[in-house]
Amino acid sequence: MTEALPRFEDILEIVSGYNPDCDEDLLRRAYVYSAMAHRGQVRVSGEPYLVHPLEVARILAEMHLDEVAIATGLLHDLLEDTWVSEEELEKQFGERITGLVKALTKITTMEQSYAAREAAQAENVRRMLLASIADVRVILVKLADRLHNMRTLGFLPEDRRKRIAAETMEIYAPIAHRLGMGRMKAELEDLALSYQHPDDYRRLSEELRQREEVAASLIAQIRETITGILEENSIPAEVKGRIKHLFSIWTKLRRQGIGLDRVYDFLAFRLIVDTVPHCYAALGLIHQLWRPVPGRIKDYIAMPKPNAYQSLHTSVIGPEGQPFEVQIRTRDMDEIAERGIAAHWLYKEGRGPGHDAERVSWLHGLVEGHQENPRDFLNSLKLNLYPEEVYTFTPKGEVFAFARGATPIDFAYRVHTEVGHHCVGARINGKLVPLRTPLANGDIVEILTSTSQVPSRDWLDIAVTGRAQNKIRAWLNRGEKEEAVEAGKRLFDRECRKLGLAVKEFRDDGRMAKLASDHGFGKEEDLLAAIGFGRLALRDVLAPYARTKAPAPVAAPPGRARVAAESAVIVVRGERDLLTYRAQCCNPLPGDEIVGYVTRGRGVAVHAANCPNVRKLLFTSEREVEVEWGGVTGAFAVPVHVGFEDRSGMLAALSQAANGEGADIRSCHLATNEDRLGTADLVVDVSGRGHLERVLAALRHIAGVTSVDVSLTTPARRLRAL
Ligand code: MN
Repeated sequence: MTEALPRFEDILEIVSGYNPDCDEDLLRRAYVYSAMAHRGQVRVSGEPYLVHPLEVARILAEMHLDEVAIATGLLHDLLEDTWVSEEELEKQFGERITGLVKALTKITTMEQSYAAREAAQAENVRRMLLASIADVRVILVKLADRLHNMRTLGFLPEDRRKRIAAETMEIYAPIAHRLGMGRMKAELEDLALSYQHPDDYRRLSEELRQREEVAASLIAQIRETITGILEENSIPAEVKGRIKHLFSIWTKLRRQGIGLDRVYDFLAFRLIVDTVPHCYAALGLIHQLWRPVPGRIKDYIAMPKPNAYQSLHTSVIGPEGQPFEVQIRTRDMDEIAERGIAAHWLYKEGRGPGHDAERVSWLHGLVEGHQENPRDFLNSLKLNLYPEEVYTFTPKGEVFAFARGATPIDFAYRVHTEVGHHCVGARINGKLVPLRTPLANGDIVEILTSTSQVPSRDWLDIAVTGRAQNKIRAWLNRGEKEEAVEAGKRLFDRECRKLGLAVKEFRDDGRMAKLASDHGFGKEEDLLAAIGFGRLALRDVLAPYARTKAPAPVAAPPGRARVAAESAVIVVRGERDLLTYRAQCCNPLPGDEIVGYVTRGRGVAVHAANCPNVRKLLFTSEREVEVEWGGVTGAFAVPVHVGFEDRSGMLAALSQAANGEGADIRSCHLATNEDRLGTADLVVDVSGRGHLERVLAALRHIAGVTSVDVSLTTPARRLRAL
């Protein structure tokens, strides 16, 4: 079996052929290390595993790449398939090569994730791969790896063969094409075709072989004619005749639904000349020899393809009525057409690998849509082709693209609006993460939902996509408007009763509609919303309709008496009769600075101005109303939590201290534990902030009391309070 091993020395010879100063020691160490780590492993073919990294290295050497890329090729499967750890690899070969190997390992992980994808997703997957790769050499090694795997795919079972071939066709051949690597693309496509459609492949290659035999003399004859006329005109050129690659012929047959006889250009000639003017001169000579097929002349020299391909193309009718294609280009253009981006790593006599400036302009030319922003490409070695985008997977392998910085909330709204609205959390790559977590390339994102979840205002800070932002805003606005209408309706009904107006009549006889239009609203609903938002003073609105008789007293519902009493001492500016109540989260007292917040049909919640709920979480300025303490005194219930060391008579002491400051204890719950530590939860009635402070001070003075705090409600209750 050992004779199957490509010899490392052969690879070294190729490298030193184009790069005499190469770091031979690095390559040798990489080879020895790879051999040691892969020792004992075999491929499905039965060959030693080492064959694979060696062949990959050979492909990279044939691409004339630098020693870092070739060493990476030798080591590329170490992290994935052997006991070698990142730390170990870094110790042996440094950060740079380890980084490249790690990037290759990550691509494998991505490959596994999109196993279930649809062909329509392929473009996204390609962009994801390119976006996640910072160094061009990663993709070059990956393509070499894939090429060798494709060459040896025949040993795998059929289903895996088909899957890998499809992946190559959908992902890697197009990437090679985008990077301008014509030769790589052609070989990948032909190999993929041979596994995807083995019968077609066999039939077609047999037909072509026969035709080539028949056409051999024709090919020789045409070549001679071309060479002759170029020599006569002093144009130095190399002329090659060949059968085009199989996949391109197969595609043409399929697309046009025609037989091989009618394919114009399974025969193709390539003229490599020395200068651009000679390209055009040669084209003219060809057209003198044979009649060109109209519409088939292409000037990719003046108008290069997006992947930087340059050449002149024409199709002509040959001596025996046989059409064939002619491509004409310079040596440099040919190199780029064959090797694409790899051409820029070529070592040329007298200089190192391609200059950075060239690489930059190369990359620049590669990326459609980014031409207007060349500064994106200033890092010469960065292959940041899609720096603004991030590509993620659903658990089923579907790919979603987002702007960079997108979060699971954006992902949830991308899946479905309802998934977004009810999103409570997310798993990224199987791990629970906060909703703020930015998505990274290749993340598999799973959204957790709950029917009780609804969007909240702070999601607007978390979502970055327009889609999510719009959906959240629409939901919030709808919710708030509904609440405002409801609140406005209650207030309106109440005011009507006060004024002795029959609400139903008022509505039915058109007065309500008139009222709305008088105040500039198209719909009654909008009038009610404005009242609910506190933008419209209800008394002024209804004043013209007030009867002369005194308004009927409002009967406070049972259990709401205290609220009503409190209501009397907090007033909404410009609207004396809005129902108010103190928010439980901050329990504002007379003496505190306060703000009002229009709630869902319960009137105005009054918060301390510094209450974090009001400021941070839930406040929308539309629903803010100005409030102030009225002149009326009242009793305000404040819950107080007291901690103490267990002692008899505590209840009496507490009550005495409170009464001493003129405050009533409305309720009290005492408890002690085994450690003889006790707690008391009191509700005391006070008249204001100053009064409360005096009561608290008195409680703290009781012997045995260790802590006295105003107890606020729990966060969950705070939210509900609004
Ligand atoms: Mn490999």
